[in-house]
Amino acid sequence: SGPDPDIPRITERLAGVRYKILVLSGKGGVGKSTFTANLGFALAYDASQSEPIDTEEGGPSRPARERGLHLEHLKVDEDRITQVGVVDIDVCGPSIPKIMGLEGEQIHQSMSGWSPIYVQENLAVMSIGFMLPDKDAAVIWRGPKKNGMIKQFLRDVDWSQLDYLLVDTPPGTSDEHLSIVSYLSESGIDGAIIVTTPQEIALQDVRKEINFCRKVNVPILGIVENMSGFVCPNCKGESQIFAPTSGGGKRMAEMTKVPFLGRIPLDPRIGKSSDSGVSFMELYPDSPATQAFKDIVDKI
Ligand code: ADP
Repeated sequence: SGPDPDIPRITERLAGVRYKILVLSGKGGVGKSTFTANLGFALAYDASQSEPIDTEEGGPSRPARERGLHLEHLKVDEDRITQVGVVDIDVCGPSIPKIMGLEGEQIHQSMSGWSPIYVQENLAVMSIGFMLPDKDAAVIWRGPKKNGMIKQFLRDVDWSQLDYLLVDTPPGTSDEHLSIVSYLSESGIDGAIIVTTPQEIALQDVRKEINFCRKVNVPILGIVENMSGFVCPNCKGESQIFAPTSGGGKRMAEMTKVPFLGRIPLDPRIGKSSDSGVSFMELYPDSPATQAFKDIVDKI
């Protein structure tokens, strides 16, 4: 078989997307989707405003927020609102709609393709979850069908202009990952963020993720250690739930020469905020988890 004729179409469709970032994890349940959703909220948040931006169509654009995007190649410096897209290609367990407060939404077809669902004017989301009859419907698809859906998400969604497209991938390195790398081979992936927990087993899986990225030439932006330590809301003391392996993410990063982006503590309020579909940074601005998250976003 010759080259995939859809790849140039995907490239054309995503021509207005500046940075494409994959969020990966070796295992499920480490908080990858929670991280992706909150990264989306954070990137779309205008720090020059005390409220998340929600301008009216055609309204005056606000200055880009002051953020410490230290990686030169990920800088967004224009004097306008940062546009963010989140695409959830975890076709078997789409959790992005719930975490981002979009459960029950349905996507619509327009002349220019499928319209994503908007959390706010500058934050667009696409997920297989929007196409299921109800939230409990499980998707049991074989490889070719999954790949077909991923291809459609990249080829047929009208994202318009985006600064960041965050791709929430399924856990591990499966067919879906190879597909997305191949579909984006022409338009390019700017980097991957690997989310893990401090547990040894999850860390071993991180090695596989790192090897995968290196094999397919996707630059690794860094490792995030999630659920790392528990900050007691009463005494503010920190306990290492997964001791003695805590700090493993950092060691792994050093060993593999990958940037360590930081640790997000285990905080039950993160689960609560996900259930309510609101960013935990907005709900709990003074929590250690929010501070940790901000520090991580500043490093990306
Ligand atoms: P994944 O995408 O890796 O499968 P999720 O993002 O769905 O994982 O998270 C798994 C569960 O853990 C969810 O219930 C989520 O609310 C919770 N969670 C994620 N990160 C944290 C954290 N730092 N503290 C507490 N709970 C968390």
